[in-house]
Amino acid sequence: MKIKSITFKEFNLKLSEPFSYYTATLECLPYEIITIKTDNEIFGFGEAALAWDVTGETQEGALGLFKYIKPLLINHKLNSIEDIKEMMKNIDLNVHENSALKSGIEFALLDVLGKFKNKPVYKLLGGKEKEFVVAQRVFPYKEKHSDDLQQKITLSLQNGAEIIKFKAGENSEIDYQIIEKVVNFFPTIKLVLDVNQGWKNFLNAWPIIKKLEKFKKNILWIEQPIFSSDYEGLAELSKKSEILIMADESCHNLLDLKNLYLNKSVKLINIKLAKCGGILPAMEMVKFCEEKDIKYMLGDMINSPLGTAANLQMATLGNFISYDLTLNNKIESDPTSGLKIDGYKFYIPQTSGIGVSLKN
Ligand SMILES: [Mg+2]
Repeated sequence: MKIKSITFKEFNLKLSEPFSYYTATLECLPYEIITIKTDNEIFGFGEAALAWDVTGETQEGALGLFKYIKPLLINHKLNSIEDIKEMMKNIDLNVHENSALKSGIEFALLDVLGKFKNKPVYKLLGGKEKEFVVAQRVFPYKEKHSDDLQQKITLSLQNGAEIIKFKAGENSEIDYQIIEKVVNFFPTIKLVLDVNQGWKNFLNAWPIIKKLEKFKKNILWIEQPIFSSDYEGLAELSKKSEILIMADESCHNLLDLKNLYLNKSVKLINIKLAKCGGILPAMEMVKFCEEKDIKYMLGDMINSPLGTAANLQMATLGNFISYDLTLNNKIESDPTSGLKIDGYKFYIPQTSGIGVSLKN
């Protein structure tokens, strides 16, 4: 089959409540939905989670690139994964970066191919059979400070959450007090702190991390404590800290991962499809991590279930230590149908393609 048309459509994902972390407060996410149609009337859809603070992308930028990307896809054959690799390589050659947009295009191509072959995307790519994965429970700034935090954590654990993640970085003293209280109340709790670069540099971050080592049995890792470009600082922290340090904003793609590895800056990374450009580049990162004994989790950018479905396909394609996925109660309305979520369990879609349908 051949690609007959492609469209980029503005899609504003409204959140049910503002979501705050160190670099932003998000209320409505300005994304794009990519639609690809083939000459045999198969439609494929993908969500491009454009995050200006992470990948530098905006709706306006993505729409502006349409005229350069469209000719690279129209009339191209689409019968195999190799065809998708060829198209994505060509887009990479012609358009620098814009990884979230590229991931949305790749998802739409994979959705078409899966529907054509009547298989879920993960089966096209050799993924493992997996029934479901369990997502982390993430507390953004405001919720972390709420009076009923203990009840909220209790409820999350009862509903099956295994890891509680706090967005951190705005005030380390208060964060310390919250963690101390939470650990006293839930002595076996598994916590993660996501600092989103908020502790800036080694000199500032090290005393805080040293103090937090008191809770090293509970804190599984600290995510991106310092500025993303400070590989030396990350290496220093990774060497000294008894708590694992994770690279997130520092590690977008395979090139970053190789550089982090060469700088001895990383033992643990957060792979996100919007940062690396899609499922196929993420699979290369997984392969590198497996070869070099680097642990990795699967993160997201706050997605609608269309983006989450792509993440769930990816979830079968590696040995991820954890999953950060968007619960439906985080978004105001769901533009899709087909995804099954029960508490914190996200079921791997078994229908053909990416696994969800768009409601008109
Ligand atoms: Mg993070």
